[in-house]
Formats: sequence, C-alpha cells, structure tokens
Amino acid sequence: MRKNIVAGNWKMNNDLAETQELLSKLKLQMVKEPEATVMVAPSFTNLYPTFQALKDTPVIVAAQNMHESEKGAYTGEVSASMLKSIGINTVIIGHSERRAYFNETNDILAKKVQTAIDNEMKVIFCFGEELDDRRSNKHFDLVETQLKESLFQLPQSAWSKIILAYEPVWAIGTGETASPEQAQEMHKHVRDLLNKNVGKEVAENTSILYGGSVKPNNAKEIFAKEDVDGGLIGGASLNAVDFVAIVNSF
Ligand code: PEP
Repeated sequence: MRKNIVAGNWKMNNDLAETQELLSKLKLQMVKEPEATVMVAPSFTNLYPTFQALKDTPVIVAAQNMHESEKGAYTGEVSASMLKSIGINTVIIGHSERRAYFNETNDILAKKVQTAIDNEMKVIFCFGEELDDRRSNKHFDLVETQLKESLFQLPQSAWSKIILAYEPVWAIGTGETASPEQAQEMHKHVRDLLNKNVGKEVAENTSILYGGSVKPNNAKEIFAKEDVDGGLIGGASLNAVDFVAIVNSF
C-alpha cells in the first residue's frame, strides 16, 4: 500500500533562530499521529538542528539536494554520506529550481538518484513541465522523458526508496495551482508509465505527490484524487498553521 505523504520544502529560507521558531510552532500544532507521513526539508545549515528538534516526533527531515559523487574536490557541495552521518536519510532530487538555476539535467539527476540509492537513502524525485510545454501539449511526453532518463534504469528493488513529486513549473510559487483534474490526469499518466516500464507492483506502491501552490484551502480537493498521494509544499510550509492544516487534509 502506498503512503500518503506531505513534505515541506523550506528552500533557502530561515536562519537558525527562525528555523527554531518554526520548529517550536510546528511541534505545538502537529498532532501526535498525523494521517500522513510528514517531512520537512530545511537548508543544509539547519538540517542537524532540525533533526535534533524533531527526533522524538514522527516528522522525517530531508535534504533539498546532494552531490552525485561520493566525495572529492567539489567545493561547496554536500555528499550522501555527510547527510547520513547526521541522521538524514531522505533527499529531494530534481526540484525545478535546481534544474533551471543550477543546470541539473536528466543525466545528472540520474546519477544523483543512483548515488542516493547506493547509500540507501530515500529520494523525493521532482519532475514537471514548463508552461510552454503545456500550452503546446507536450507535457505528457516531457514528463515521460524526465522519468525515463533519470529513473527507469533503476532496478525494481530500488523503487521502494522512490517517492515521486509532480510539480508543474508554472504552478510553483505562482499562486496558480493545477486543477485537481489536471493533477489527477498527470498522476494517472505517471502511474501508467510506471506500470509499463517498471511493473504493476511498483506502479501501485509508489507515492506520487503533487506540488505547486498547495494551500490549506485547496489541499483537500487535490489530495482526494485517486492517484494523488499527498503534496510537496513550498511557500505554505513556512507557516506552521498552514502546513499542519495541509497535513490534516486527508
Ligand atoms: C515547491 O517549490 O516545491 C513548491 C511546490 O512551491 P509552492 O508550494 O510555493 O508552489
């Protein structure tokens, strides 16, 4: 059975004091046994304090990125084993901001995913089309290529570590959301691709999250769709009340 998951991507927001304040509010708001698996992804500098603060809660702490190499001369980068050494076993890979601003191609992302799997980490793998792709009706093919080039080489055994996050770029941070029907249509397409390329069991058991301007007032309707198994939340995850309201939307 696939899991319902709500993951907050804090991006490059909040210094240490602000992170601690958000964590205190989150702990106050969060019920002890939420309906979904809850994750938060702070910046690198706030990973360890967040991990420490949430140790006695069910909330999982994830990194927003990592390098594809195990170690070496890559100034400014962070490796899988560094993350693991501070208790971080989950990483977001392929966020559209990494693809757009840091030139992360499907090929680089395939390597990052492989390194994460080699290190027994869970991956939240993001993909999704730009507005132009949707306008020219290329969104289904584009998503297929993203998944094929970065994920479909993985052995079946690796798929228990993969969480998918469909994030149409035109809906990220814009206040514009894909309609629940548009989300369902793409999630169904992705599940069909999994079925065809990896197998029925993986297709049924892989959680597919939706991301793109999810807020407390639209989460319930989006999460109610058959193939939507939760959300990757940007802006609204920086507000504890809103984030917990989204977590409670199942
Ligand atoms: C994101 O960046 O992954 C995201 C979904 O952002 P937002 O919720 O702010 O659109």
